[in-house]
Amino acid sequence: MRRRFLPSTVALALTAGLAVGTVSAVSTPLVAAAAADVCITPETGASAKGGRGADTREISAKEQSEIEARTASILKAKQDRGAGIPQGALAAASVPVYVHVMAAVNGAGNVTDQQISEQIAVLNKTFAGQEATAAANTGFTFYLAGTDRFYNDTWHVDGASTTYRSQTRKGGANALNMWLVDFDNLGVATFPWDYNKNPSIDGIRVHYASLPGGSATNFDLGETATHEAGHWFGLYHTFQGGCTKRNDEVADTPAQSSPTSGCPVGRDSCRLAGIDPIHNYMDYSYDTCYNQFTPGQSTRISNNWVAYRS
Ligand SMILES: [Zn+2]
Repeated sequence: MRRRFLPSTVALALTAGLAVGTVSAVSTPLVAAAAADVCITPETGASAKGGRGADTREISAKEQSEIEARTASILKAKQDRGAGIPQGALAAASVPVYVHVMAAVNGAGNVTDQQISEQIAVLNKTFAGQEATAAANTGFTFYLAGTDRFYNDTWHVDGASTTYRSQTRKGGANALNMWLVDFDNLGVATFPWDYNKNPSIDGIRVHYASLPGGSATNFDLGETATHEAGHWFGLYHTFQGGCTKRNDEVADTPAQSSPTSGCPVGRDSCRLAGIDPIHNYMDYSYDTCYNQFTPGQSTRISNNWVAYRS
């Protein structure tokens, strides 16, 4: 999930209507002073974590361990029978994207075909590592497989309907379904390991205003979809688990105590090695600050793809 930090809001308690379940990448709500979120002061050590009062885990540590063990076991079984990819190689695929425009009856949220085309281009640019020299090329590309448009006030406001995803989802485990809705978040995603349990809601929900040319200030370059797609491929937030060695299960994304807001270069919120990966697509920084997935994340994407989506 990705939250928007609103400068004019006194407190960010965007809890209303959020269904917290095992199938969604939903983090515990952040409650923090808006000023600190817009222009964050670098934080250090455990006191910073306590000070922000936010447990930013999407899932519990126990669940996380179980998921990691299960993924490794599925991967090994596939490799033992010659399926998937050879050990050491990375998967690559062209991913069909189905875009579901959930507009209101009055036309709110009815993004243009041009915006959708630009959104697909952003996914291709970001997953190919074209925004920074240090960025990984994940090997995954995206193409628009279909767009459908609905004019339904209930479906438009995410949370008001629990059925629209299963009524509209298309394709198999390899298809990225993107529902463009209006809600208090920038986006919410399902994880790949939950696909078999609940395939009909698999995909990402993205605020329509976050598409390129949209009205979400600081979040209008289409990189919310990149962040949510990252979850859909099995990535955690870079602040998952806070200041722990294991944190997001990716070795080359240094631990951070809490989400980043804005683009505070040099932020270093944990005593562990490395400064916060504020440019990583799996943090909460502004779209203009985002520029990379790491090689470790690329490997994790590949492993989860082979285990659950190929
Ligand atoms: Zn997220």
